[in-house]
Amino acid sequence: MISLQYAAALATLLLATANAATPTSSYLPQSSPAFLPKFSAPTGVITAWPPANTAAALPSGPLSTAAFTLSGYPAMNEVVKNAATDPNIVPVIAAIDWTKVPNIPPTNDTIGASYPSSDPNCWWTKGGCVTPKISYIPQDIYYCPTPGTWGLTYDDGPMYYYPVTAENSKWAEPNLYDYLLNHNNQKADLFYIGSKVMGAPAAAQRGLNDGHVICSHTWSHPSMTTLTNAEVVAEFYYSLRMMKEVLGITPKCWRPPYGDVDDRVRAIAWQMGMRTIIWDLDTNDWNINGDQVAPGPGAITYTEANNTVNGWITNRENGNDTKQGHVVLEHELSNATITLTEFWLPTIQKLYNTMPATACNNIAQPYWEESFVYPIQGKVAVNTNGTSSTTPVTTISGSNSTSSSSSGTGSSGPSVVKSGAAAGQIQAVTSVMGLVFAAAVALVL
Ligand SMILES: [Zn+2]
Repeated sequence: MISLQYAAALATLLLATANAATPTSSYLPQSSPAFLPKFSAPTGVITAWPPANTAAALPSGPLSTAAFTLSGYPAMNEVVKNAATDPNIVPVIAAIDWTKVPNIPPTNDTIGASYPSSDPNCWWTKGGCVTPKISYIPQDIYYCPTPGTWGLTYDDGPMYYYPVTAENSKWAEPNLYDYLLNHNNQKADLFYIGSKVMGAPAAAQRGLNDGHVICSHTWSHPSMTTLTNAEVVAEFYYSLRMMKEVLGITPKCWRPPYGDVDDRVRAIAWQMGMRTIIWDLDTNDWNINGDQVAPGPGAITYTEANNTVNGWITNRENGNDTKQGHVVLEHELSNATITLTEFWLPTIQKLYNTMPATACNNIAQPYWEESFVYPIQGKVAVNTNGTSSTTPVTTISGSNSTSSSSSGTGSSGPSVVKSGAAAGQIQAVTSVMGLVFAAAVALVL
C-alpha cells in the first residue's frame, strides 16, 4: 500500500498534469497484468524507490547467495513449447482483445523478401519504423528529446557465466553494477531476459536495489515477429512472471530482441501492460567477435565497435550533435561489451547528461507498482515521505507518452489492479511547463 501522504502528493502532481494536458489520442485502455500468480513479496529487494531507508548505502560487492526456488517456468532460453495450450497462457490469450491486434502473419525469410516497401505493419526490422500504423498504440520510445542527453540502456542481462570461474566472475555481474555505482552512482535502464533472471536472480535483485530501471527483454530472446500469437504472449508472460516473483515488480516497458517488432507484437505487448522501447544509436557491441576476452560469433571487431562510439564522441565534441538526445543500445553480455561501456562511460558523462532512457523521456513510474518513483530529467522524484521537488521539467517525450490520468495502485502483492488510464500507458509525472513544451515538440515532429 502506498501511504496517504505519498498518495496525496502524487495526486497533486497528477492533477496538475491533468489540468495542463492536451488529450492524447485514443489509445487502448490498459490495466496492470491481472494474469500473474499472487506471489508473496520477494525478500532481498526494495519495495519502493527511493527506498525506505534512503540513508543506507546502496549494495555493492559480491552478490547475495540467497537461494531461490523458482518453479513453473519453461525451459531456459527456449521459446515456450505448446504455448497455445499452456495452462498459464490460455487465460492470458483469453484476456486480450484480439480485434485490436492486427492480423499479421508471423514473419519468415519468404515474407521478408516480398514485404511491401510501404511497410504496412510498421516492421522495425525492415525500415526502422517506430510509429505504429494502428492509431491506438503509441509511438515507440527511441530517443531522448533533450539535446545533450544520453539515455543509457543495457540489454540481455543480468550477465552471468557458467561455469563460474575466477576469470568469468571478473566480468559477470556485479561488475557493471559496481562500476556504475562507483561512477557518479550512474543509473541505467536494464532490459532483462526472463531466462537470465532465472539463472542469476541475485544479480537481478542487485540491479533493482541499485536503483536501475528494469524492463522486459522477453523470456528467451527470440525474433518476436517470427512467433505465433500464443508464443508472443508466452514470451511476455514468463518474463513478467519471473520479474514479479524475483523482483516484485511488473515493468511497463520492454525492448524487442534485435529490434524485431511490428504492430502485431506491439499490440500484444501493449495489452499485456508494456510499451516498446527501441534506440537511435547502436554501439553494435553485441556483434563484437572474439578479439576481446570473451569469444563470440560476432561480425565486427572490438576496434570497430570502439570506433563507432569514438565517432559519436568526436561529433559531440565538435558541436555537431545538437538536434536530439539519444537512446543508446549497449549490452551486459560479454567481456567485450563490459569493457567497451566501462571504457567510454566517464567520457560520456562529461559530454552528456547521462541517465536511463526512461528518465530522459520523463517516465517516473516504469512499473505498475506505483511505490517506485524514479527521478526524471529536470525533476526530482517524489519521496516516499510525501515531499517532492517543484523543479520544472525541462522537456518531455516527443512521443505520445503523456497521460492525464492515474493508473491504479499496486505497491505490493499481486498485480491485479485495474488502470484508470485510457491514454498513454507509461505515466509521466510532469509539470505544466513540461507539457506545454511537449505540445510544441509534438507539433514539429
Ligand atoms: Zn537482446
